[in-house]
Amino acid sequence: MSLKVYINGQYFDKEDAKISVYDHGLLYGDGVFEGMRSYGGVVFRLEEHIDRLWKSARAILLDIPVTPADLAQAVNDTLAENNLSDGYIRLIVTRGAGTLGLDPNRTSNPQVIIITDKITLYPDEYYENGLEIITASTIRNHPAALSPRIKSLNYLNNVLAKIEGLKAGCIEALMLNHKGEVAECTGDNVFIVQQGTLLTPAIDAGILQGITREAVIELAKDHSIPVREIPLTRHDIFIAEECFLTGSAAEVVPVVKLDDRVIGDGTPGPITRKLKEQFGRLARGKR
Ligand code: PMP
Repeated sequence: MSLKVYINGQYFDKEDAKISVYDHGLLYGDGVFEGMRSYGGVVFRLEEHIDRLWKSARAILLDIPVTPADLAQAVNDTLAENNLSDGYIRLIVTRGAGTLGLDPNRTSNPQVIIITDKITLYPDEYYENGLEIITASTIRNHPAALSPRIKSLNYLNNVLAKIEGLKAGCIEALMLNHKGEVAECTGDNVFIVQQGTLLTPAIDAGILQGITREAVIELAKDHSIPVREIPLTRHDIFIAEECFLTGSAAEVVPVVKLDDRVIGDGTPGPITRKLKEQFGRLARGKR
């Protein structure tokens, strides 16, 4: 049976789920999105994702033509329609079809799209042995140009850094901000451990306020692991005891090398392993 895709309140077979080539989401990356996971039929932090979607939309003056509660319900309905219990969900709102010009006032019909699918997990090996990543030469968007807090359909900045990573044989790449500080990876937030303290760049470093990041900060506090949100440089990662990334798809994944330099003892450290396990339990409702 073909997967069903939700578009504006209707389900379409995956093959027939289509929108206009005049949609400004396609023409200009003019729209917003969320990536979420469901565990045992329950979407992890659905409300937070819906809230972030609304904030992204507000930042680009896009009115989402449904209520947050209805959209949350539609996400759950789409999962049920596809009989998915452990899945990945992509929620998209485009500006809608308009003219070939930029003018958003000439678009009429924002498209609300929900795609639910099986989740493609990273191989176990990444979690057991840790990732090797590189620093991309592509810096994160300057917050005054296009705020990284907006999860917009314009992901070229991240795509370019991802290409650099892939060319170097790495599935993630570290992105610095316009000040040369550590920002985040192409689709994940970054944490390090120094002297038992968890350190991560603050939101004003020009990063996405990751929902997994927030959950990990809460978990660390619950387990009496001190957390500080401060500016970090590559130097801090080189001298860190541990490093890991967080994201909805990846959950918590250890990093053991940056730019061919070994971090800590080159294996996933104890705080990383603990938070990975705790996050896994939290997401699966076993806490
Ligand atoms: N940074 C970027 C650039 C991302 O695209 C993502 C994934 N949405 C994240 C961080 C992690 O955010 P979350 O934990 O909300 O998935």
